[in-house]
Amino acid sequence: MTGRRILTCAEDAPGADMHAFIADLYPLCRSITGNGLRETLRRIQTHIPLTIHEVPSGTRVFDWTVPREWNIRDAWVKNSKGEKVIDFGASNLHVVNYSVPVHMKVSLPELREHLFTIPEFPDWIPYRTTYYHESWGFCLSHNSLSSLRDEEHEVCIDATIEEGHLSYGEYFLRGISDEEILISCHTCHPSLCNDNLSGVALATFLAKYLRTLSGLRYSYRFLFMPGTIGAITWLCLNEPHIERIRHGLVVACVGDPGAFTYKKSRRGNADIDRAATHVLAHSGRKHKIVDFSPYGYDERQFCSPGFDLPVGSLTRTPYNCFPQYHTSADDLDLVRPEALGDSFAVYLSLLEVLEENGTYVNTRPKCEPNLGSRGLYGLTGGTTGEKERLSLLWVLNQSDGTRSLLDIAERSDLDFRLISASADALASKGLLAERKPERTEIALASAGNTDGNANPAPCKNCEVLD
Ligand SMILES: [Zn+2]
Repeated sequence: MTGRRILTCAEDAPGADMHAFIADLYPLCRSITGNGLRETLRRIQTHIPLTIHEVPSGTRVFDWTVPREWNIRDAWVKNSKGEKVIDFGASNLHVVNYSVPVHMKVSLPELREHLFTIPEFPDWIPYRTTYYHESWGFCLSHNSLSSLRDEEHEVCIDATIEEGHLSYGEYFLRGISDEEILISCHTCHPSLCNDNLSGVALATFLAKYLRTLSGLRYSYRFLFMPGTIGAITWLCLNEPHIERIRHGLVVACVGDPGAFTYKKSRRGNADIDRAATHVLAHSGRKHKIVDFSPYGYDERQFCSPGFDLPVGSLTRTPYNCFPQYHTSADDLDLVRPEALGDSFAVYLSLLEVLEENGTYVNTRPKCEPNLGSRGLYGLTGGTTGEKERLSLLWVLNQSDGTRSLLDIAERSDLDFRLISASADALASKGLLAERKPERTEIALASAGNTDGNANPAPCKNCEVLD
């Protein structure tokens, strides 16, 4: 068990490096398929040995079909003088993602049917997509719309939608056990930072850090995939291996300065749910815990009833709960190095609980063993604090082979790290023996999926807990 104490909360969390990586990826025009997505995966490969998978268009994945591949070279709208009044070159958000190619002249009323703005934030450009409906459009600031003259405009979207592939990235880091922790993020958004280049950066740097360690108890599987269709594709192609997933996290929106939100798995009481709740409660950070709901990111696929995987989602401000969400204001200023680094540290703390959550048996269960004679009072540099002493007693009392360290931490309301350190100390004196965990089976029924195209639900539960 001692080989397990390998994760430490990084004092020097790589927040600045993560932000620099986000800045590198920011200009690329990503989508659910295409060269922007592919190039993003290649740049992740400069940090970790990511395998890039290519799934052909037309592949049936449960109730869905891998779409044709979309690529865009340029797009613009010109006024009657030939001046570009909307220019994809200035921001890739200007084109509705997956727009079909067009080149024609239109009147202003005709053009306006294809234009999208946010009147409440007249300087911001919205982010829109049309993945599964053949259409075209432009997004622009409301101020720019107001300045368009009532005249003929020339519109051009130089794009292709052709048979091709859906690309996703996978990195598997082998640990001692075949049991896996899944870390998943979506990689399909164009120039947007918190949603979700922050998640891409955190997953990349987490993988980069973990692979420098030895003695990891779990194996780790990192997935970098387009939202919804990517997760559906991965689950469909990997169904025989799903039962190895013991815990999972969907990473998104981890770069803004807001408080943390942990969204529970569908199960609601999985170890990942309990560990996240415990870590946040003892972290001193503002946070909230919310129940599972079938909307959000790819937890909705992992937690569909046919899989019902123990996968939660740890974000800072959740999707759709910050005004910059899906707009050009979700930019490099919204995500902060210190917030990214702090998120990295909390993720590591959570993984530490999962890695160290063993179950032990008290080898001298009849009455309390004499701790003083074994030098166990005085663990913390001369004077053992009350909490440390209490922690030793809790671990001894509860370790009957049926209760994990997380169980004990919850029941005692003591920090898991203290409980874990006590278990190590007691084991070093022969007072505890580890009970190897039994493998629990995950029942796999036939998979079902919900439609991924519903409109975002309104934000709920925005109050924050201390
Ligand atoms: Zn999004």
